[in-house]
Amino acid sequence: MNHDAALELLPLFSLHALDEAGARAVEVHVAVCPVCRSELAGYAAVTEALSGELEPGPEVWPSIVARIGVV
Ligand SMILES: [Zn+2]
Repeated sequence: MNHDAALELLPLFSLHALDEAGARAVEVHVAVCPVCRSELAGYAAVTEALSGELEPGPEVWPSIVARIGVV
């Protein structure tokens, strides 16, 4: 896999959205390419931040229930 192709697939790779062959190919390139390695680190940080935000704590439920007026 060349650099441009790998760079394009890094976001999907960081989300584990590639099939096994694709993920393997990106992995092989990232292992030898410092540019992609640092890009991937950036995507990983973003992915982590986003998934943290998508996990609401139990304290949000009362306010959601109050807002939509169920119960
Ligand atoms: Zn690269």
